[in-house]
Amino acid sequence: MTRMLIMGPPGSGKGTQAERISERLGVVAISTGDIFRANVKGGTPLGLEARKYMDNGDFVPDSVTNEMVRNRLSQDDAKEGFLLDGYPRTVAQVDYLDGILAAGEHKLGVVLQLTAVDEELVSRLLGRARETGRSDDNESVIRHRLALYHQQTEAVVARYAGRGILAEVDGMGGIEDVTDSVMGRIDDVLSAPARGL
Ligand code: ADP
Repeated sequence: MTRMLIMGPPGSGKGTQAERISERLGVVAISTGDIFRANVKGGTPLGLEARKYMDNGDFVPDSVTNEMVRNRLSQDDAKEGFLLDGYPRTVAQVDYLDGILAAGEHKLGVVLQLTAVDEELVSRLLGRARETGRSDDNESVIRHRLALYHQQTEAVVARYAGRGILAEVDGMGGIEDVTDSVMGRIDDVLSAPARGL
């Protein structure tokens, strides 16, 4: 069991790969986007708050997101390991997650990053919009989400790269191929000598 993150720009296939990796490794996959969408659908106070940001492609404020993640990670199924999908996306969230982990004397084993070029992502997401009708999959919102990824989340990737736990995988192959590459990279990182924090 291990504590892992999966990162990548919108449309890079994070959710799909998270499900597959979670099955192969037997760890729970936790997607902040899915939790927010379930709350929006259920009309909960958290959903009503999150919706204000999600429809425009903005980040839900850290104060809301951090608390939600803390609660989710304290549940039994995440005690021994987890694969977090979509969190952290800001350096403040990295610090917050570090605090949660340190309190339990835990640390992250691997951070996966799926890479992809922007134009391919836009066309994938426009295709998804036609199939699923997700309310944040229209071109101007998609471009805004990509811009936020570059402005804020690439700094998060750089932090983890500095700790020697980043595994980059090209997310543009077929679903099976990407999963195979990811599994190989997880092994590489977990078997490399620890470089500490
Ligand atoms: P994507 O990465 O394709 O944009 P997600 O399903 O991961 O989609 O997230 C959907 C939306 O949920 C984001 O655009 C954002 O509004 C919100 N969200 C998810 N995770 C976070 C987070 N860690 N911090 C802030 N907002 C988040």
